[in-house]
Amino acid sequence: MRLRLPAERPTEPPTGYKIAHPVLSQDGTRAGFTGVSLGGALPYAVLDDASCVYGRRHRPPARLCDCGFHCVHDRSAAEAMLCTAEHRAALLLEVSVLGAYIRFERGFRYARQRVRVAVAGPCGCGAAAVALADAGWGRPGWRALVPVCAGCVRGRTSVSLAGFARLAGQGVRVVARGGGAGFPDVGSGGAAAGAGLGVPELVAEAALLQARLDWFQSQLARLGERGGGGAERD
Ligand SMILES: [Zn+2]
Ligand SMILES: [Zn+2]
Repeated sequence: MRLRLPAERPTEPPTGYKIAHPVLSQDGTRAGFTGVSLGGALPYAVLDDASCVYGRRHRPPARLCDCGFHCVHDRSAAEAMLCTAEHRAALLLEVSVLGAYIRFERGFRYARQRVRVAVAGPCGCGAAAVALADAGWGRPGWRALVPVCAGCVRGRTSVSLAGFARLAGQGVRVVARGGGAGFPDVGSGGAAAGAGLGVPELVAEAALLQARLDWFQSQLARLGERGGGGAERD
C-alpha cells in the first residue's frame, strides 16, 4: 500500500462542486450553508475552515479520518445529487478548494473552502426562484431555506437571492436556474462578479418586489372590504 500521496502545488486553488442547503441564523443577520450528509450538523460560512466532525483534535483532512469539506470535480456529478427527493431544494455550489487537500478519483477532501457561486433551482411549483424562504426545518440556531418563486413567496418569511448573498458576504453570488432552462455559466462570473449585482440578480429582485407588492395590496384590499362591508362576510 502506498503511504505517501504525491504532493501537488497548483498555481491557483482547484475548483469543485457540491450541494448544500442555504441557512439563515436565528436572528437573521448571518447566512451560510449546511451539508447534505456527513458534516450536515455543522453549518459553514462562505469562507470557512473545516473542523473534525468527530471532535478529534487533528486538522482536517486527516489521513485516517474522513473529516473535512468534500466536493466533486464535475458539476454534472453534483447536479446528479440534486435528483434525489430529499436534495431537490438544495443549492449547487461552486467552490474554491483552499489549504491542504486530498484528491480522490471523483473529488477532494480538504481543509478550507470559499463558496464562489450558489445556484438555486426552481421553486416547488417549477417556476424560477427569486428568493429563499423558510423551509420549515433547521439546525440549532439556523433556519434552513428553500428556493421560492415570486408567485409562491407571498407572506412567507424569506430573503431575496441578493439579500442572502449580502448576508453571506465575501463576494458570493447567488443566482437562480430558470425553470426548465439550463444552468447559467457559473464558471465565468459574468458581469455580476465582484461588488455589483448583475442582470439575473436584479431581475430576481424586481420579481420579488412586485410579488411582495401584489400580496401587500391584496391584503390591504381585503381589509378595506371588511372595513367598508360591516357585517358582511367574504
Ligand atoms: Zn477527523
Ligand atoms: Zn412557485
